[in-house]
Amino acid sequence: MDNYSEIMQAIKKYSRIIIHRHQRPDPDAIGSQVGLAEILRASFPYKEIFVVGKDIPEFDWIGEMDEIDIQLYDDALVIITDTANAPRIDDRRFNMGDKLIKIDHHPDDEPYGDVSWVDDQASSCSEMIYRFYQHFAKQLKLPVKAANALFAGIVGDTGRFMYPATTPQTMLVAGALMAAGADAAAVCRREDAITLPLAKLSAFVYQEMQITDHNIAYVTLDKETLSKLHLSEAETSAVVPLPGKVASVVAWVIFVQQEDGHYRVRLRSKGPAINGVAKNHRGGGHPMASGAKAVDNAEKKQIINELDEVASQMD
Ligand code: AMP
Repeated sequence: MDNYSEIMQAIKKYSRIIIHRHQRPDPDAIGSQVGLAEILRASFPYKEIFVVGKDIPEFDWIGEMDEIDIQLYDDALVIITDTANAPRIDDRRFNMGDKLIKIDHHPDDEPYGDVSWVDDQASSCSEMIYRFYQHFAKQLKLPVKAANALFAGIVGDTGRFMYPATTPQTMLVAGALMAAGADAAAVCRREDAITLPLAKLSAFVYQEMQITDHNIAYVTLDKETLSKLHLSEAETSAVVPLPGKVASVVAWVIFVQQEDGHYRVRLRSKGPAINGVAKNHRGGGHPMASGAKAVDNAEKKQIINELDEVASQMD
């Protein structure tokens, strides 16, 4: 049986479905989770459909989380969207259901679940959820809230359709979501908007970033800078794409200092694959967008050197 049929069969069988996504969610995590939930709620009104995980107020415009009792996991189908490995799943009750399904677009380095549908060529998990809907379009409904959520996920993970993972299929899906009622301009404006402290942090990024011989940009957001701007480290995502706007930069890394002093490492690329470097430093991810961890300045330097080496092979 193919993935689509196996997932649809499980959805039809269970009367309660609980959908999870990863910790520290981005628009694709929330968009794929909420988009799937809204498709299922509209299509199967007699089923109980829940979305769980920490509620993130800045994403309430995509959809809010449900608070549910642990007993609801009995006999439930649990679906996880956009999450490569089990340790990153938000809400640790995920394995208390009757059946577990993984739907994801990251490399499948750490498989989990009774059923797993992974397409690491998809731009986003939200694009996969749309394809699932499309496959069963005669049986499923796509309400406007789902169309907006999935559009938000695609826009988030493609950087407004600028990242190389954007394919003709992505654009067809985006068009179909607009036809289903997604307000593309409003979603893009919403994801593009920043607060005044983030505008000031953007100025800091451009002011402070350094560029290596092979066009790797790097900058550190230390605790002092973030605290002066009253920003939490979780709020810094909006500045991650900025070094890539500089035409000469081929790949970049932003080190975000955590409360305990170590650095969250956020790697992005326009060409050279940088997930190998992430894997060398307790991380992983996509070839063009990865994450890792650095314990001190020496490890930061090591990461910059490794990126420079990767870029030098592209020259
Ligand atoms: P981020 O910079 O946190 O947005 O991460 C970019 C991508 O790298 C995400 O899609 C994650 O899947 C992946 N990633 C981030 N941190 C890790 C990690 N510690 N281990 C594995 N993958 C990660």
